[in-house]
Amino acid sequence: MKCYLPDEQAMAEFGGQLAQAIDAGGVVFLLGDLGMGKTTLSRGVLRGCGHTGSVKSPTYTLVEPYDTPAGAVYHFDLYRLSDPEELEYLGIRDYFSDDALCLVEWPEKGAGILPQPDLEIRLSLSGPGRELELTAKTQKGQRMVDILNK
Ligand code: ADP
Ligand code: MG
Repeated sequence: MKCYLPDEQAMAEFGGQLAQAIDAGGVVFLLGDLGMGKTTLSRGVLRGCGHTGSVKSPTYTLVEPYDTPAGAVYHFDLYRLSDPEELEYLGIRDYFSDDALCLVEWPEKGAGILPQPDLEIRLSLSGPGRELELTAKTQKGQRMVDILNK
């Protein structure tokens, strides 16, 4: 599934729709270069989960936990991770529990340690906006895509 998102607001709104398409957590990989809108999309998902406070980019902390009305959300940004093994010290197994939603920016940096995603979202430049491409990797991910397609 592909779609064109013309501006920041459309990106955040798409995040809100994605939040509605998730029923019991899951792992979402956010792929795309710096500045493609991964954090904007994550902010939209968190808003859609009912989080009203601020959403900061977890560039330095690697992970930011949120206790939202829709359940636990962990927002990762692994850009600064130098070795996937560091994730073991963060105790990431606790984060990737069945009912938590994990949004992961720069999952490439955690290769070999991160679990497989349910959904991959690839963001790229397209004119003044962004193209978003969704790929379901599990049945849970496919259910999310089916709901988004409706
Ligand atoms: P990333 O986390 O991928 O590095 P950010 O979410 O921080 O990217 O966004 C970088 C910039 O891109 C921000 O200025 C944001 O407003 C802008 N942006 C986000 N989505 C879109 C879009 N669909 N079209 C145009 N600009 C966008
Ligand atoms: Mg970011």
